[in-house]
Amino acid sequence: MTTPRPRIAIAGIAIESSTFTPYRSSAADFEVRCGTAEILERYPFFAPVADGGTETGQVLREAAEYVGVLHARALPGGQLVGADYAVWKEEILSGLRAALAEAPLDGFFFDIHGAMSVEGLDDAEGDLIAAIRGVIGPDVLVGTAMDLHGNVSEVLFEHCDLLTCYRHAPHIDAWETRERGLRDLVEAASRGGARPHKALVHVPILLPGEKTSTRIEPAKSLYARIPGLTAREGVTDVSIWIGFAWADQPRCKAAVLAFGEDADAVDAAALELATAVWQARHDFEFVAPTGTFEECLDRAVASTARPFWISDSGDNPGAGGADDTTYCLSRLLAREEIRAGEVSALMVSLVDPGSAGLATELGVGGRGDFTVGGRIDARDPGPVALRAEVTALDDAPGTGRAAALRVLDGDTPTGLTVVVTARRSQWASHEMFARLGMSMTGFDIVTVKMGYLEPDQYESAADWLLALTPGGVDQDLVRLGHARIDRPMIPFDAEIPAPAPDRILRGGGA
Ligand SMILES: [Zn+2]
Repeated sequence: MTTPRPRIAIAGIAIESSTFTPYRSSAADFEVRCGTAEILERYPFFAPVADGGTETGQVLREAAEYVGVLHARALPGGQLVGADYAVWKEEILSGLRAALAEAPLDGFFFDIHGAMSVEGLDDAEGDLIAAIRGVIGPDVLVGTAMDLHGNVSEVLFEHCDLLTCYRHAPHIDAWETRERGLRDLVEAASRGGARPHKALVHVPILLPGEKTSTRIEPAKSLYARIPGLTAREGVTDVSIWIGFAWADQPRCKAAVLAFGEDADAVDAAALELATAVWQARHDFEFVAPTGTFEECLDRAVASTARPFWISDSGDNPGAGGADDTTYCLSRLLAREEIRAGEVSALMVSLVDPGSAGLATELGVGGRGDFTVGGRIDARDPGPVALRAEVTALDDAPGTGRAAALRVLDGDTPTGLTVVVTARRSQWASHEMFARLGMSMTGFDIVTVKMGYLEPDQYESAADWLLALTPGGVDQDLVRLGHARIDRPMIPFDAEIPAPAPDRILRGGGA
């Protein structure tokens, strides 16, 4: 114990951003925290136990002196505007210089998602951590706790000493993972800062999240192997990164990483788990039955299951989609049973501040001619003209102004209602539907811009299909047009080499 109470700085930028959507994320999309008090408040485990904190979180809070610098996080989106990234990068570096001017640092916690795309950069997190290393120097221990959909580039691996990620998708263990990552960093710094051995094995496979839920095989069994590996002597942590499929960057691929005190045990754990991932490389399947939107709509119209839900997965804003493609809307409009009002259908939602504004001017009960969607992502067919009656209006922090529009055929109401919003949003809760006087079960067919359904949706749906629609987060990866990823790579190539000892990247131990 050379440093009984280590001094740990915290900073990071956390976003998952697609390079295949025309949408650009900017500072306005982020929640930014500056300074120690604001940043420590981000971690629920640090809160008093009565307020939802953990006992272990209280111990961890006392175990170190924390210096919060800057943390920015956003919902998934498009590439971050380069100028906004540059401003935050400089604020983080100058904040670290100021912290070092006061007293030395023992550790740095890099709080990131791991799939941030920034205009002009191939490895944004690698760029940021390399610059941070330039300020804090080679001796400060660096730990990170990431989303399993992040990427581990060689640069990120080189500059971080302790790397871990979530073990569940959906991410029920997000805070548990950050607590574990921070605790491992504080403990290593408390022991005097000796670096653990680390081993990284990349597995060249790209998988959409909708194929890698840890509720189903093969991901379930792969992640279930981790506790057995970390129980081994000399192994502290072992992780699997699925990686991020919707960026055209050389770093995008699955990764298995282990760290701990025993170099041989760490190597063996990483190679063993990477081999298991490789053995499962052809076994990943979608969490739900899939089809084109036309196939899904045919089945929904013919079905007796009501409501029948369809996920417009290629434009899911929760993964980084623009939230305004009109592929599904145009097909719903063209469907005769819906146009005639024999089948009721809801399309929820499209971000379209202009249409939400026009609906506000018209007021509830007002009728007008709208041009909906297709302004951010104009692919097939782009903005759609329709005549509609405003049936409900609302304002909520998540959606901004929201309007429900009942589509008209001449002056006759059709069976189709479409919701437009001022902000990108995901309609995942009963409460959001109720605010517009609607219910998740109040339509024969509900088309939603989502991947896998969230709990309220899943419970409401009598049946559900995942439509493989075009968009910035198209689940059909092969047609997206990746050009800069490593090859061979599954699913773009039929086969990839097996992990082998000469493919292990090593570090630490000094
Ligand atoms: Zn994720």
